[in-house]
Amino acid sequence: MTRSPSIPFGRPSITDREREAVAAVLDGPILTHGPQCAAFERTFAAYLGGGAHCVSMSSCMAALHVAWFHLGIGPGDEVICPAMTHVATAHAIELMGARPVFADCDPATGNIDPDHVEALVTDRTRGITLVHYLGIPCDMDAIMSIAGRHGLYVVEDCALAFGARLHGIHVGLFGDAGCFSFYPVKHLTTAEGGMLTTANEQIAALAAQKRAFGVDRTHDERAIPGMYDVTMLGMNARMSEMQAALGLAQMERADQMLARRAENHRILSEALDALEDVRVIAATLPDSRPSHYCLVAQLEGRLAPRRDDILLALRRAGVGFSVYYPHPVPRLAYYREKYGWTDGQYPRAAAISDASVALPVGPHLGPDEMHSIAGAFGNIVKEL
Ligand SMILES: *Cc1c(COP(=O)(O)O)cnc(C)c1O
Repeated sequence: MTRSPSIPFGRPSITDREREAVAAVLDGPILTHGPQCAAFERTFAAYLGGGAHCVSMSSCMAALHVAWFHLGIGPGDEVICPAMTHVATAHAIELMGARPVFADCDPATGNIDPDHVEALVTDRTRGITLVHYLGIPCDMDAIMSIAGRHGLYVVEDCALAFGARLHGIHVGLFGDAGCFSFYPVKHLTTAEGGMLTTANEQIAALAAQKRAFGVDRTHDERAIPGMYDVTMLGMNARMSEMQAALGLAQMERADQMLARRAENHRILSEALDALEDVRVIAATLPDSRPSHYCLVAQLEGRLAPRRDDILLALRRAGVGFSVYYPHPVPRLAYYREKYGWTDGQYPRAAAISDASVALPVGPHLGPDEMHSIAGAFGNIVKEL
């Protein structure tokens, strides 16, 4: 039997103003890929800064798929991919018929280890994909240098990284494309939705065309309504106007929601770091600003083998939690069966999957809840 925890891991936060913005679209004539999508893309680009071009998508997975489809990878090609990520990062490569070649992570940040990336480059490597784990920026200087030396594409999975910057540059603008998610518990929500970002105007224009069947002009550009041509292969990965209206309205609270996450994370980090055998996964690069999707407490020493007991005790205490991510991607059944898995592979990613706890810091919570979570967590590990 499950009951809702009194401190939920995630809860979408929707204001009256945001509800009204969605309702207003329903009263009008345009329900999909119209002015709300265009305004959301412009506003998102302005927020990112740095010459960003943005293309709204039906999800982050769709954005990743369109990115690799546009870059043109296929059978025989390899893309180096983090073992510690959401399956979408790898699936986008697999869907193109290319092979994800997994790299282990840095245990301090959970991010892809550039040394391992370098070691995996072969004649068949066409690209590198990465995730800014929990919104902690990857070492993009090292990754872009490897990509530059070997002529590789770079696609950034920014699903958890809205608001994250390195050297003042927003993530999603270092590689050829960045892909954001607006799934309900992420930093901003459109229920389902995503955004492809790039500093390259041509990639943005072609990704926009491929997201909409490859048709050569938008409704606005058609001299005679209904007349268009199709100049390339494409798919339908568009966002609806209701979703874009919600995202656009949420942007007004972006900084406020990010500040709440940062403050919650700070309070909870301080309390958990003081506990023996608990290490908070956190940014280590100077000049990086993470976006604090959640707080991951890595259990070490005597606590590491007791992770599941701790999760069950947290549930009894009414504290919402999750595990990011429950398996290294190559250990998921689909990948295991296709490419094989031996225990002991990707030990640093496996340590996160098997011995960490993800705790909430979202804007639905405040300092009181952070102190409650810290208190409950402290009692649980003391009594184990
Ligand atoms: C949530 C998530 C996704 C998937 O996002 P959707 O918008 O649901 O497709 C992809 N990558 C990462 C890292 C995620 O956390």
